[in-house]
Amino acid sequence: MIKASDIQIKTGEVEGYGGPGYHWVLVHFENVQLEWSKHYSEREAGKAEALYEQRWKQHDWQDAEWANAIEGKPLASPPCSNCGQHTLEGTVSQWERIWCKRAPCQIAQKEWAALKKAEYDKSLQRQAADTEKWKQEWKDKAKEAQTGFHWRDGRFFKRMEGGSVRVSHVNGESLQSQYVIPAAEWASIVCSVSAEGETDGRWNAAQDFHGRSTSDAATEPK
Ligand SMILES: [Zn+2]
Repeated sequence: MIKASDIQIKTGEVEGYGGPGYHWVLVHFENVQLEWSKHYSEREAGKAEALYEQRWKQHDWQDAEWANAIEGKPLASPPCSNCGQHTLEGTVSQWERIWCKRAPCQIAQKEWAALKKAEYDKSLQRQAADTEKWKQEWKDKAKEAQTGFHWRDGRFFKRMEGGSVRVSHVNGESLQSQYVIPAAEWASIVCSVSAEGETDGRWNAAQDFHGRSTSDAATEPK
C-alpha cells in the first residue's frame, strides 16, 4: 500500500531572464513523476496544486490501483548512481556518475572521486613513462643511424644485410629521414650516374663490385 502522505507535492518559481518566468508544480512518489506542470501565474499554479492534491492525496492507494495509476509515468529525476533514489534535492556530477545529497551518498561520492583521481594520476604517469620511452627509442635510433660512412652534414650510408644500403640523415639527436635501397637498385643508381650509363653488363659489374648476396634472388647474375 502507498500512503497518501508519502506522495510529495513541490512548487517553485523560475525567474525569467529577459522574458516571462513561470511557476511549476511537481507531484512525485519517490522517483516517479506523477505530475509536472508549468504556469504563468501563481494563481494558475495554485489551482493545479489543489487539483493534484485532490487527485493523489485524498486516500492511500492499494497496490493494484497504484500500479495502474503510475503506469507509463516518467522518472522525476535522474536516479542517484549510488542509492538509485531520486535527485530532486540536487546532484553532484563527477566522473560519469551522479550523486544525490543524501549523507551516505556524499561519502561514497568522495571515495569514488578519490579512486578515479588516483586512476587518472596513474594513467598520466603511464603516459609520461611511455613518452619518455618513445623519446629514448628515438634517440637510440638516431644514434644508431650515425654508423656507417659519414659523407657530410649528418648524411650516413651503411651497408646492410643482403647488400642493401641504408641512407640516414641525422640532425643532432634527431633522425630526419632514413630509407633502405635494395642491393640491385643501388647497382642501378651507381650505373645510371656513371658516364656510360646502365646496361645489363655494367649493372652486373656494379653488382659484383658491390658484392652481391647469394641470398637475394634479385641479385643473381643474368
Ligand atoms: Zn544517493
